[in-house]
Amino acid sequence: MSTIQHYAAPRSLEEAADLLRQGNVTVLAGGTDLMPQSKAGKLKFQPVLMNIRNVEGLRGLTETGGVLRIGATTTITDLYDSDLVKSRLAALWQACDHFASDQIRNAGTIGGNICNASPAGDTLVPLLVLNARVVLAAKPNGALTQRVVPLREFFVGPGKVRREPSELVAAVEIDMPPPGFVSAFFKFGTRPALDISTISIGFGAVYEGGKLRDVRVAFGAVAPTPIRAPHVEAALEGKPLNEETIVAACDAAGQDARPISDVRASDWYRREMVRNMLERMLNNVRNG
Ligand SMILES: Cc1cc2nc3c(=O)[nH]c(=O)nc-3n(C[C@H](O)[C@H](O)[C@H](O)COP(=O)(O)OP(=O)(O)OC[C@H]3O[C@@H](n4cnc5c(N)ncnc54)[C@H](O)[C@@H]3O)c2cc1C
Repeated sequence: MSTIQHYAAPRSLEEAADLLRQGNVTVLAGGTDLMPQSKAGKLKFQPVLMNIRNVEGLRGLTETGGVLRIGATTTITDLYDSDLVKSRLAALWQACDHFASDQIRNAGTIGGNICNASPAGDTLVPLLVLNARVVLAAKPNGALTQRVVPLREFFVGPGKVRREPSELVAAVEIDMPPPGFVSAFFKFGTRPALDISTISIGFGAVYEGGKLRDVRVAFGAVAPTPIRAPHVEAALEGKPLNEETIVAACDAAGQDARPISDVRASDWYRREMVRNMLERMLNNVRNG
């Protein structure tokens, strides 16, 4: 049962931060996680429901000095429609291409995907590959301040993030990848576009002269949070992308993935999928 006593729709970040500082606020962005969770009794609304969709400056992409800032209320459709995302951040664009239906993409936001902190959240895996940072805004002493946390350190467990109740996720920042950077995203689900991932993989690296460097690999739905795969990265870094390297990387995946069995798949199946799909992705990179 809802306990909402007040609905607020702030127009500025200052106003939103003021409301959060007063406490007892549930943040509403697209509502595509919040509403089903509330209906299922998994979430109880706080007395104040704060819709952040009208907050000025929170939606859209801006690139300054090689840093891309994606506002928290930027929708999955906005990302999918961005030429910059499509041409320079292929893994993120592919994740948006495999994300739910048009209706959900039009409402669902990147900030909501991050704060919902599902181990299977589709944008989280490419954002980990892109070394994304989360920008949190608050007004602890009456003045608006920002705190920046690497996304890799932001997730604590399923549905749990390092965000204080007084903080709003204002944006995600990404250093634009270097020239020659290639990236890709793979998602497996029974109906990949509409289902939550059974497993997902993100890959990124500079591929030059047949060798990989600045390798970044991330997995979704194989641990309590989306994770980077340091053993796979070490097996690929600086190596020629040949069959031997690919086998070593796929062997290393077993050290990084710690899947559980659930209604979607067994842990054994998930491990096999990670291994086989990583092999396919690396062969795709190798074959251009
Ligand atoms: C039918 C269906 C299909 C789906 N398919 C997919 C899929 O394929 N892939 C996938 O990853 N997800 C999927 N989802 C989940 C959901 O659509 C995404 O997680 C979406 O990005 C959530 O964004 P939102 O704006 O709707 O978040 P909301 O539901 O508004 O919020 C989610 C959570 O984040 C908090 N929050 C939101 N924004 C902020 C902020 N700026 N600062 C602080 N806290 C905030 C809210 O309080 C809430 O706890 C699906 C959901 C449905 C219903």
